[in-house]
Amino acid sequence: MEKRLRERLHRAAVLIVAAGVLLLAAEAGVAAFLARSVVEVTNEQMRAETDEYKNRLEKQMSSDYQILTTMSSFLEFSNVDEAENFDEILNEANLRNDFVSMAYFPLNGPGVLAVLGQPVRGGVELTELQPEVQEVVAQAWQGEMALSDLVQSELTQEKVFIYAIPVSRNGVTMGALIASDQVEIFSDILSGNTVLSGNGHIHLLNSRGELLIHSQNSVVEESAASIYEEPYFNGGQKAEDIRTAMAAGESVYSSFRYEGRSYQVLLEPVGIKDWYMLCVSRVQEAGERYRIVTVIAATFAVLLLMMVTLLVYGYRLTRRNDRELRELAFHDALTGGDNLRGFTLKLQEALSQRRDVNLAALDVRQFKFINEIFGRERADKLLCHIHRQLQARLEEGEFCCRDSADLFYAVLLNADPAQAAARLRNIMDEACAAALHDANSDYHILLYAGMVAAPQCAASGKVDDVLTHAMFALERAKGASSNTVWTYDTELHKKEEVANYVESHMHQALQSGEFRMYLQPKIDLTSGRLGGAEALVRWTTGTGRILYPDQFIPLFEQNGFSVSLDLYMVECACKQLRAWLDQGIQPPPLSVNQSKLLFFEADYIQKLERLTERYQIPASWITLEILEGLALENAGELNARISQLQGIGFRISMDDFGSGYSSLNTLSSLQIDELKLDRGFLMEAADKNDPRSRVIMEQVVQMAKQLGISVVVEGVETQENEALIRSLGCDFGQGYYYSRPITVEEFTARYWGVPEDAPQEAAP
Ligand code: C2E
Ligand code: CA
Ligand code: CA
Repeated sequence: MEKRLRERLHRAAVLIVAAGVLLLAAEAGVAAFLARSVVEVTNEQMRAETDEYKNRLEKQMSSDYQILTTMSSFLEFSNVDEAENFDEILNEANLRNDFVSMAYFPLNGPGVLAVLGQPVRGGVELTELQPEVQEVVAQAWQGEMALSDLVQSELTQEKVFIYAIPVSRNGVTMGALIASDQVEIFSDILSGNTVLSGNGHIHLLNSRGELLIHSQNSVVEESAASIYEEPYFNGGQKAEDIRTAMAAGESVYSSFRYEGRSYQVLLEPVGIKDWYMLCVSRVQEAGERYRIVTVIAATFAVLLLMMVTLLVYGYRLTRRNDRELRELAFHDALTGGDNLRGFTLKLQEALSQRRDVNLAALDVRQFKFINEIFGRERADKLLCHIHRQLQARLEEGEFCCRDSADLFYAVLLNADPAQAAARLRNIMDEACAAALHDANSDYHILLYAGMVAAPQCAASGKVDDVLTHAMFALERAKGASSNTVWTYDTELHKKEEVANYVESHMHQALQSGEFRMYLQPKIDLTSGRLGGAEALVRWTTGTGRILYPDQFIPLFEQNGFSVSLDLYMVECACKQLRAWLDQGIQPPPLSVNQSKLLFFEADYIQKLERLTERYQIPASWITLEILEGLALENAGELNARISQLQGIGFRISMDDFGSGYSSLNTLSSLQIDELKLDRGFLMEAADKNDPRSRVIMEQVVQMAKQLGISVVVEGVETQENEALIRSLGCDFGQGYYYSRPITVEEFTARYWGVPEDAPQEAAP
């Protein structure tokens, strides 16, 4: 049970671990998916934001250009040289557009310069200004629109971008109009704290990675001049990839780590010069994923832990239940000791290991009445008490149990059965005495016990057999009036078994012809020839085993079945006589044993008569052997019956004379035709040291002769026996010296030489 439980637990554990691994894998998958989604969403947001800011930047620039273009077209149609108030126009435009400075440089000659907050200067030589200005002006003179990089203005000491557009008349470039705009304006654009809902920032840089404009809301604290510095891409493969992408003017996603966190990055070309936007998201790609993974993993771990806890709890519970069940299964609730199952297990083990095991079954005499007199409760107490007493008197290795009601079993260890029985009797005496004392009553408790002794236990070795044997012995002890131990007897038990078989099979055996007539010859001592034969029954059972009369006749006399069997045997005899006659054989008379019961059956005589009529044989060929004991009860009636039978023609023989209360008196009072001297009589007479027996026998034979009764001697086994009975004047001898009882076939073959296999006898 425990093993099975453990196996199940093991299976469940494996299942849980497998499920756990599966869940974790699923969880990792989910986490990875979520994390990737987060990255993708962030990337999309960054692109959207970047596009938005790029747009705004473009708008700002195009509006700056627009103003310049408008002014340029205005100048196209007015003579710049002639416009005396040009400086005012410039100044006004500059003021309205928040340009830091504006200037106009004709192709040849000095220009005009207006700086915010300063008076307009005319006659300014281009060479006076810083090279970046000269550069864009030169470009505009070429007819192109130009934009400078970030420049430190020498005029205002501020960081500015410088725009330049050509001013032409009739398609010919005449000069360049330039304006510088503060970086702060771009910064405003790029520093809106709404980038990625406040979770990001955007920088402006050129394709070499140099930061042109720093966002004020940088999510990382940095003072980098280039993205190839800390905290961005200071070397490594990522830096390389970015460099390549930016050189090609492509946008690129990447990420960098800063203070243990990972940040996502988008580098997007602005479309103006070689400028790029650097969008940095605060959303921590890896960190976020780790957090999700951790949360999910923790959830699963908790679940797993709960499952394991439940499992362990369930296992404990089942094991406890199991133990309780086992307690119930092997223990007697009343006494708290073993029950029969528990006892049987121990007995099994003891029988397999030792040869000194004596098994006793004990019972309380008249327990039914004890129950009635004292009531159930006290009777139960008594049982507990007996159990305790038994238990207390057992020695090491011995054990006992209560089976049901008042039946107890005990194992006593002792190689000597007599000693074991004596000890058991002792224990019973002591237990009863103690019970009497305890119960405080004068009711004498008595026990009786059946014991299977060590040799029988060892020989059998089977628990079931030994227990049944103990019950058999117990049954035998039941009748005794004091504490009794009856030891199981193998021989007796075999007899009981046969008796049981006999009683349960006799009817069916008679039906199916299992009873067969054997014949034993009676030899005429004067001629030495066959003078008759006695019919003796043999029972061949269905399994081919032969049972002898001693094994069943006494039982049949008890249960009345001998009436049927004896009539059957008479019929067999009649039938056989008929068969012989039909074969042309002159048969000898046949003797049939008649039980006492049959002899006094009401229609006994009619039945016999009917049989002789049916087979058409003279009644004088049938001798009825009766027992002397019949005369003891009612000699008068017996004689009347005998006369009736003799009247029909039957001969009457008195069997077993000299075995019991035989007396010459009975002999003289009964009108019998034949006297059969018992084998015991002959044995005594044959004893040379006992001449008295021979004298008595001689007297009996003489008396019989005088009464006209022929004398048959049974049990003639030797030639001396024969010589003796012949000398005593006996008429017939019967015994092994002549023949054992043999089958009809053998008998016929022996005396008339008819082959044995010829059909002669059949059951009636
Ligand atoms: P019984 O009528 O005295 O039969 C003689 C018994 O002595 C037979 O035993 C026979 O086999 C045995 N016997 C014969 N010669 C010798 C000998 O030389 N030495 C020894 N030791 N024994 C010898 P069996 O056949 O076992 O019968 C036993 C008894 O059973 C019979 O004793 C008889 O009383 C009874 N019996 C047998 N057949 C029947 C029957 O059909 N009906 C009735 N009611 N009783 C029967
Ligand atoms: Ca007989
Ligand atoms: Ca006899």
